[in-house]
Amino acid sequence: MIKAVCHCQSVVLEIHTESLVQVHCHCKDCQRAHGAAYVSSSIYPAAAVRQICGELVEFILERTPRLRCAQCGMHMYSELSAINLRSVNAYALPDGAFQPQFHVQCQDAVHPLADQLPHYKAFPASFGGSDEMMEW
Ligand SMILES: [Zn+2]
Ligand SMILES: [Zn+2]
Repeated sequence: MIKAVCHCQSVVLEIHTESLVQVHCHCKDCQRAHGAAYVSSSIYPAAAVRQICGELVEFILERTPRLRCAQCGMHMYSELSAINLRSVNAYALPDGAFQPQFHVQCQDAVHPLADQLPHYKAFPASFGGSDEMMEW
């Protein structure tokens, strides 16, 4: 079990399993919601991510409910309800717990990040995508 903790430490999530996948997402929804070029997330089965204290506020930009701390405003997780997963903010995890495996939604990237990881145009086939890759 690991804990995801917000900036002011009032919200604590307990995570009771290994991540299914850890990614950088470059989609427009993430860009607009976070005011960032891309978002770093660690994804778990929804039931494995439990809020044990603090207060969360939900907001929805396009479709995805995003939960943030009511006190400090830090984004904690997004609810991927159609596939019953929760996408936890990588920066809320303990140091070293985020080991990104690949990039997704690179077709929308505004700031391509040229690293050694795979850069999927949308999603890998194992996540319902086409496996198409970007050049960078
Ligand atoms: Zn907080
Ligand atoms: Zn995204």
